Amino acid sequence: ETRVKCAKYEDNHNEEKGLGSVVADHYNNIMNKGVKDRAKSRIFHMRNFNNWIKSYLINYCLEQIRERQVDDYPISVLDLGCGKGGDLLKWQKGNIKHLICADIAAVSMEACKERYEINKKRARSPLFSAEFIVADCTKIRIKNQFENSNRMVDLVSCQFAFHYCFESFSQAETMLRNISENLKKGGYFIATVPNAYEIMLRLKNSEDGLSFGNEVYQIKFPEERPAPPPLFGDRYNFYLEGVVDCPEFLIHPPTLEALAAKWGLKQVWIRDFQTLFEDAVKDREYQNLLSVMKALENYPTNEQETETEGEYSHAEDHLAQ
Ligand code: SAM
Repeated sequence: ETRVKCAKYEDNHNEEKGLGSVVADHYNNIMNKGVKDRAKSRIFHMRNFNNWIKSYLINYCLEQIRERQVDDYPISVLDLGCGKGGDLLKWQKGNIKHLICADIAAVSMEACKERYEINKKRARSPLFSAEFIVADCTKIRIKNQFENSNRMVDLVSCQFAFHYCFESFSQAETMLRNISENLKKGGYFIATVPNAYEIMLRLKNSEDGLSFGNEVYQIKFPEERPAPPPLFGDRYNFYLEGVVDCPEFLIHPPTLEALAAKWGLKQVWIRDFQTLFEDAVKDREYQNLLSVMKALENYPTNEQETETEGEYSHAEDHLAQ
């Protein structure tokens, strides 16, 4: 049934009018100016917290991959929607061998490349090799842009970016194809996306049924939002004071699961951040990392964690994106 509905939305979508260029312009021009004091602290901790979640997810996956392989197995990763390289240090810490970065925003990609070169110079041991592709991953087959188009990766990561592909059925299909056809058998795809159920719930409890938020962030759906909501192209605007002001698309989780299955991807793990936090914080390493990364307001900082802190010394720089 999902596929029939998907096909309907594909027909309705006008590729020419897609929002890819709006999204790319937004990320290319992003500057962390104008964040008011009241928002600064919250945004700072929220970003650190998101980064902490990504660290957990990425390390967990790399561990799973390593467990199945011989020592020194050369892990390769595809980072879709890599932005300015917010996860470069995580890949370095995870000791991967090769990274393919892809993003629609050319200016962000330049920053990502620069950051990689800086990290490479600073690294005590040889850093992973990397390639950088500027592309709309929801519209083109990125395999053709790889240095070696036969390369398959162990892990595809798409952090805070996958939801852009739900603009239309065909874009979601292209994205899933880009994930699936480049992934080794038994490899992993990990993504972090806004929680559609939570958004729908907050919307239901909102005054106008179309928007909610607080003094720092706002989510606003257009007045002409169809009812029932479409499975693709369910657009809203996400505003985060001084940081984000951009259209995004809701992902209906069962639709994603069905579509992913079509591309040979089986869902093995899905968590909201609260549950993931409760699980991860049981692990002492991640408990310590919470304070090192300043991921929670009023969380005690362990002064003895200087060694790990060194590895995350540019965390703030990374998070300032
Ligand atoms: N993954 C990075 C991180 O976690 O720090 C960046 C996340 S940022 C919130 C979202 C990124 O998705 C932006 O860099 C944006 O340019 C990228 N993006 C959005 N739509 C895209 C598309 N169609 N193809 C490739 N990248 C896209």
